[in-house]
Amino acid sequence: MIGRVLQGVGGVYRVYVDGAELECSLRGRIKQGEGSIAVGDRVEVDQQADGSCCIEAVLPRRGQLSRRSFAKRREQVLAANVDQLAAVVALTRPEPDLFLLDRLLAVAELNDLDAFIVLNKVDLEAQPESGARTPPFHQLPESLSPYSQAGYEIIPTSVKSGTGIDSLRERLHGRITVFAGASGVGKSSLLNALLPGLELRVGTVGTRSGRGRHTTTAGQLIPLGDGSFLADTPGVQNFEPAALEPDELSAVFREFRPYLDRCRFADCRHRDEPGCAVREAVLEGRLSERRHESYLALLESAEKAARPWERQGP
Ligand code: GDP
Ligand code: ZN
Repeated sequence: MIGRVLQGVGGVYRVYVDGAELECSLRGRIKQGEGSIAVGDRVEVDQQADGSCCIEAVLPRRGQLSRRSFAKRREQVLAANVDQLAAVVALTRPEPDLFLLDRLLAVAELNDLDAFIVLNKVDLEAQPESGARTPPFHQLPESLSPYSQAGYEIIPTSVKSGTGIDSLRERLHGRITVFAGASGVGKSSLLNALLPGLELRVGTVGTRSGRGRHTTTAGQLIPLGDGSFLADTPGVQNFEPAALEPDELSAVFREFRPYLDRCRFADCRHRDEPGCAVREAVLEGRLSERRHESYLALLESAEKAARPWERQGP
C-alpha cells in the first residue's frame, strides 16, 4: 500500500492510506531522524499478519520545506512534497502583521513554493486607524496592495459569513499547503470550515510545542478528504531570517527582481549604496517602502548571523 505520512511522534507514524489512518512503525532499514522521513512523505506500507503496520520504504520526494540552521550548517526538513504556502492574515482583530507576512513569503520563495494570501475575517469592519474603509469585501486594505502588485493572489474569506471558503477549497485542491499566520487570525476556524462533516479541530493549528494536544514541533498534515492536505508546521512560524545568506535575500522580494541588475554595484545590498536601483524605485514610489523596510530588517538579521562573533559583543 502507498500512503502519506501525516505525523510522526516517537517512532510511531500516522499514515493516510485510502482515506484511513494507520499507525505504523519504521522498518529498521530506514534510518530514523535527520530528515530521512518527514510529514508529507509518500511511503510504502505493509500490514503484518498480526495487523500491525510497517513503513517499508520512502518514495522519492518532489521537494521539501526546510529550515536552514546557520549555526549548525544543516537543513531541518519540516515537510516533504509541499506544493504551496497560504499566509493567513485577518482584516482586523488582529491587524495584519506585515513583517510576519513578509517572512512567510520569503520562506515560500526560498523553498520554491507557490504562495498566496488568505485575508480572513472580512465580515469585520476594518479599524478606522488602519486606513481601510468599511467593506465591501472586494475592497482590499491599502496595506496589502503591494502584495497584489507583486503578483500574490489574495483570497478574502470569512468563517462567519462563509465568504470565500469555496474559493479557498478550490485553491487547495489536490495539493499540500502549508497554512501559516499569526495566532488568532483564524487558521483553526478556517480548517474547521474546510473539513467535511463535523470533525472539530479547533485550536490544533499552530499549537506550540508542549502547550497543546500535540507535543511535537515536527508538525502534522491534515487531510481534507479530497486529496488536499493542510500542513501545520509550527517551525515555519518562527522562521529565522538568520538562516538566509545576505546575498540571496533581495531576490525573495519578488517585485525587487526587475531592479536587481540595474544597481551600480553588482554586490549591492540595496541599503545606502550610491546608484541603487531598488532604493531609487522606493523613493519614486514604484516599490513599497514598507516592503523595503522588511527587507532591511531581514538583511540585518542575516548579516548578524553570518558574523556570529559580533553577537557576543566586546
Ligand atoms: P488561529 O489562532 O489562527 O487558529 O485562530 P482561531 O481559528 O482560533 O480564531 C481566533 C478567533 O477569531 C476565534 O474567536 C474565532 O471565532 C475568530 N474568527 C475566526 N475566523 C473568523 C472570521 O472569519 N470572522 C470573525 N468575525 N471571527 C473569526
Ligand atoms: Zn541596490
